[in-house]
Amino acid sequence: MKHTFETPIEADILILARWAIPVVPRNTTWENVSIAISAGEIIAVFHSGFPNPPQINAKETVDCGNSTLLPGFVNAHGHAAMSLFRGIADDTALQPWLNEKIWPLEAKHANREFVEDGTLLAIAEMIKSGTTCFADMYFFPDAVAESANKAKIRAQLACPVLDFATIWAETADEYIAKTTELYDTYRFNELLSIAFGPHAPYSISDQPLIKLAALAEELDVPIHMHLHETAEEVEAAYSEYGYRPIKRLADLGVLSHRFVGIHATQLNENDILTIAGAGINIVNCPESNMKLAGGFCKVHELQSNNINVALGTDGCASNNDLDMISEMRTAALVTKVVAGDASAMPAHKAIEMATLNGARALGQDHLIGSLENGKQADIIAISMDDISQIPIYRPESNIVYSTQASQVRHAWCRGTQILREGKLTTINTTLIRDRAIKWQETLRESARKNV
Ligand SMILES: [Zn+2]
Repeated sequence: MKHTFETPIEADILILARWAIPVVPRNTTWENVSIAISAGEIIAVFHSGFPNPPQINAKETVDCGNSTLLPGFVNAHGHAAMSLFRGIADDTALQPWLNEKIWPLEAKHANREFVEDGTLLAIAEMIKSGTTCFADMYFFPDAVAESANKAKIRAQLACPVLDFATIWAETADEYIAKTTELYDTYRFNELLSIAFGPHAPYSISDQPLIKLAALAEELDVPIHMHLHETAEEVEAAYSEYGYRPIKRLADLGVLSHRFVGIHATQLNENDILTIAGAGINIVNCPESNMKLAGGFCKVHELQSNNINVALGTDGCASNNDLDMISEMRTAALVTKVVAGDASAMPAHKAIEMATLNGARALGQDHLIGSLENGKQADIIAISMDDISQIPIYRPESNIVYSTQASQVRHAWCRGTQILREGKLTTINTTLIRDRAIKWQETLRESARKNV
């Protein structure tokens, strides 16, 4: 049946492109695409499958030409301000890396100003590589919020909770109180949301976990936590409690569909059954896991058990970039190797992991993660003109396996254009660079003295 439209559609922005990968419906690539946006929302999507598209009257039209449109990437785990630690401590396993390098540096330098500057540097890199939403676990989440607000990017702030004092709070109760305060501040914010971020099973005891699990349910907010990141962590927990961290968390009532477990490189059959039964989300951070030699996440096995697996870069000190395109490529390749099956992660599935699955883990899949009518306009355009992109038989394959971050040309977050022709519109890059170089001088001296 032919569709006809009697009246033209009125829109704020009309985006045109040669291709689009909407993520919903799955395994789909459209050609000759028009997306209309009004008040930050996608109000109409047309492509060559519509023989008689309507007239769209838009205040602004952006013709992306030979580009592919995608939902903006959702970086489901990171520590944005740690971008100021990029390359400061490489070639070390997780525990000595944390205990001897990162934590002493943080104790000395990670103040509010450090977090503001480091977060803006990270956001600049993320937007330029197509991320329009990121989850963050770091001290001074209010400063992260301010930086995200300035940049007009979407963020979920997983406020840290630890047993011991840091620069942000003294006791577990104080961390939790500060988190609920921030929840009250941002509960109606259009781009920012709050979550609990108990750092890891080895850095938080039972009582605060029970308390924050009850609060997370009451407020309906996620719990982000590093989980089974290394074999040493699991072995140490086994010696202390007599069972593995996942069982401990399950027994404490912490695991539910709101729980976001980061890394999960050490999973046995029972762990997988437990997390499948609880419906938790896992964030795969393959580059960080390889760099710290932690292990590999069994993504294919998790997905075969209907467990939602999202993608994250982790912090810049253990990656050392925040580029979701290269992370997606690494994730696709590693998943195939771990599964021993080249079909374990097709290109469309890798894109879904980097977009919709992340949105689902953050409890935001009703808002973002796909190019659908009614969703918020978090959209990116990737140029397909580069010599490395030719020929193009299946755009989804080129996006996953042969795209560089520099080919991201445009990005919109809730309808605001935050990247135009590869240039940031909300961040002063000269200022950010100057601030980062200032920190580099301070931190270089500190790292040299090993404090
Ligand atoms: Zn992390």
